[in-house]
Amino acid sequence: MIGILVYVLVTKKTCDIEINNDDNKEIQIKIPIEEKETITKEKLEMAKQEIIESGNYDVDFDGEIVVYWNTNGTKYHIDKNCPHLHNDNSPEIMYGTLKAVFQKGITDPCRICIKPSHN
Ligand SMILES: [Zn+2]
Repeated sequence: MIGILVYVLVTKKTCDIEINNDDNKEIQIKIPIEEKETITKEKLEMAKQEIIESGNYDVDFDGEIVVYWNTNGTKYHIDKNCPHLHNDNSPEIMYGTLKAVFQKGITDPCRICIKPSHN
């Protein structure tokens, strides 16, 4: 029986593909991908840093920062009472980790509750 497992790890500028075959040999191929990658570790880290500097954020059971957004919104918030989170017509308030909100395509912080980073 031949089993091939392929999994892809996306990093900033390269795409790593690891192939494990029955001989348990690992083959790594690096393929350059476009610069305008959707979610990068750096981007997430920067966003996280801004939130930490702003203070007053919530965390989940794993200690991950929780952010809030609404279904009509384009920005994420750390304050669930932020007026901008509630300013649309009865939107549904969602919450989750930074990564989750980034994956939804919401990558802009609300400047009312998240202060810009000073560096
Ligand atoms: Zn806000």
